Amino acid sequence: MNHQIKNYNYRLLSLALMLLCCVAQAQVTDKYPADYAGDRIRFHALFIWDPNAESAHVEFDQQALHFFHKLSYGEGFTYDVRTECPNSLDSLKRYDVVVMLNALPHDADQRKAFEQYMEQGGGWIGFHATGYNDKDTHWPWFNEFLGCGTFLCNNWPPQPALVEVDTQLHPITRTLPKEFVVPASEFYQFSPSPRDNKDVEVLVSISPKNYPFGIKDIVLFGDFPIVWTNKNYRMVYLNMGHGDEGFIDATQNLLFTNAFRWISLPSVSSSETPKE
Ligand code: ZN
Repeated sequence: MNHQIKNYNYRLLSLALMLLCCVAQAQVTDKYPADYAGDRIRFHALFIWDPNAESAHVEFDQQALHFFHKLSYGEGFTYDVRTECPNSLDSLKRYDVVVMLNALPHDADQRKAFEQYMEQGGGWIGFHATGYNDKDTHWPWFNEFLGCGTFLCNNWPPQPALVEVDTQLHPITRTLPKEFVVPASEFYQFSPSPRDNKDVEVLVSISPKNYPFGIKDIVLFGDFPIVWTNKNYRMVYLNMGHGDEGFIDATQNLLFTNAFRWISLPSVSSSETPKE
């Protein structure tokens, strides 16, 4: 009798386990993986670089192309590369995101096409010299778009820096530590600072603890944002981008990936709520 009860209990337990497995399996099928791209290309990304730029910028650009190309593995997005900015809106508007690596529109047609693309909701990530502009640039729209004034000064030579995360509530920075050291680069200070612009959200800044910052060219003081977004556009500017150390640090790589993801997948990013 006891033996029969034992067998019965054992069969009941097996059945319950099987049912549990089925339920778990159903949950796996329904909810995970949540968003496999499969054969579907989800978005289109264009990377623009300038092979004739100064060698330290080309070094960064080539490593950046390798880095972002790896993010395209699995065909989550199409990865196109150009060495000139397109001179028509039609060429730009098939892309969900345009990443400018130390390159920017030069002539009137390229500038016009880019302005139209951004005004119509295009996505943009700019690195380092892409944001460089001075009194000879003569492109007021670009300053309005970037959200700050012209180039003021830089540290030299390239060196690592302690940076501060200005907000951990933004999707780009919420997985970053409050402070971390970024790899060696040249950093630009702009005047007026983007922080003075009410439409700009500063995400990362050079810490004042670095001052005096530099060996030959020394920055002694001043507000020093290096990553920000102008809320009037779908854009992020990152001031890193000089030399061959841009991708040696996991935290900075995470920052770059977060920025790329936020610009490329705006509908997903905006529906996510910060955990704090
Ligand atoms: Zn540089």
